[in-house]
Amino acid sequence: MTINIPAPKENQKRIVVVGGGFAGLTFAQRLAKTDYQIILIDKNNYHQFQPLFYQVAMAGLEPSSIAFPLRKTFQKNKNVIIRVTEVEEIDKEKQEIKTGLGNLHYDYLVVAIGAKTNFFGNENLEERAISMKSVSEALFLRNCILNDLESALTTTDFEERQGLIDIVIVGGGPTGVEVAGALAEMKKYILPKDYPELNCEEIDIYLIQSSSTLLKGMSDEAGASAEQFLKELGVIVKKNTRVTDYDGEFVSMKDGSKIRSNKVIWAAGIKGNSIKGFEEEDITYGNRFNVNRFNQISGISSLYAIGDIAYMEEGAYPKGHPQVAQVAIQQAKNLADNFKRLEQQKDFLPFSYNDLGSMATIGRNRAVVDLPRFKFQGFFAWVVWLIVHLFSLIGVKNKLFVFINWCWNYFTYDHSLRLLIKPKVHKHSKLVEED
Ligand SMILES: Cc1cc2nc3c(=O)[nH]c(=O)nc-3n(C[C@H](O)[C@H](O)[C@H](O)COP(=O)(O)OP(=O)(O)OC[C@H]3O[C@@H](n4cnc5c(N)ncnc54)[C@H](O)[C@@H]3O)c2cc1C
Repeated sequence: MTINIPAPKENQKRIVVVGGGFAGLTFAQRLAKTDYQIILIDKNNYHQFQPLFYQVAMAGLEPSSIAFPLRKTFQKNKNVIIRVTEVEEIDKEKQEIKTGLGNLHYDYLVVAIGAKTNFFGNENLEERAISMKSVSEALFLRNCILNDLESALTTTDFEERQGLIDIVIVGGGPTGVEVAGALAEMKKYILPKDYPELNCEEIDIYLIQSSSTLLKGMSDEAGASAEQFLKELGVIVKKNTRVTDYDGEFVSMKDGSKIRSNKVIWAAGIKGNSIKGFEEEDITYGNRFNVNRFNQISGISSLYAIGDIAYMEEGAYPKGHPQVAQVAIQQAKNLADNFKRLEQQKDFLPFSYNDLGSMATIGRNRAVVDLPRFKFQGFFAWVVWLIVHLFSLIGVKNKLFVFINWCWNYFTYDHSLRLLIKPKVHKHSKLVEED
């Protein structure tokens, strides 16, 4: 069966893009006004702004503020065709993709499927820890937190109650640090008002980091300041130790200690998503596609990978680029511009990453920012973080809603979205997220 899509016009080339994340979306937008036929395929019908997932999980933002419908982006571009389905396999010989909707031939394929959580083979953690790689996982975490707080009100046993209210976050990178900061703020400003019968001082928030510093990809100053900010907010930072197991009740650490908690948030690593049909040599570290400086997979001129799923070595990045939004966006732009060059029979230009800096926020008024020339921490860094994230969001409505929400939360010390909405699962429904 073939996917029902109009054939390309005479001499028109078809580019199939798999994934509508930062990389796939930017690539399709950049070629939207060219003569190529662009088929954008994603398993979801929306783009997700992952850097703000944690604010959805902490009830600070609505999911719709950080997700954007793919069809809305391309309403005026007839050469961009969208299909919502999962790509299961690639046939490199036939130049075909296989999906739940059928097969489709491509002239060029751009794989931009991003990454998923890496539990490093620990099945117990994979089964029981909570990750944050999608809007639905962020909502699941929000529900778990709110549900456990409700249960804690009627739990008289101290140890059992601690299990319900304490939270363990694994991984001291930007996600772990931001989640820990947001939870600590919630504990300080919101929960005492919502749950006056609960002694919120008893809530312990643990951040576990295997190495000796937080925010390892950033400067030492950023790591040290983040740790200080977290400690000021009451977060228990445990460094130089690893989480080795979790039975749903107790978290076991490498140093032999145990923490009782019903919620373990896993922010300790990612690995590339998989699609069948590739050879072993196409795939390298972190389950990423081995690409050359033109983003070609194994040097094949019809096959490309961009974003988190691509592993490219470049002078200053001998171990590949960091898996961040800017790399995905810049690779997408470079590749799209190369396709424009192809139309003019010009050679492709190699990709070079321009590091614009990195940042993380730790609750209100506190953030750390590393720019190529400056490093700063504290209130000004927080303002910079807010502006950068606000302007990176897609859609005017989303920018406006997030801005209003942030102002409201800032001045009222309150989040208005602490609703415990449980999804109804219908046994005949196909609308269940698998991974
Ligand atoms: C919680 C969190 C916080 C982050 N914070 C920051 C930050 O502050 N700054 C920063 O720069 N980066 C941050 N990142 C990283 C950043 O989000 C990623 O680097 C970026 O999203 C990579 O873009 P991408 O397009 O490669 O992949 P993604 O954005 O992950 O997009 C992949 C897309 O492919 C689709 N897909 C996957 N498999 C298939 C399939 N088989 N068929 C069809 N569709 C498929 C998915 O639905 C998704 O839409 C964060 C990530 C997370 C998870």
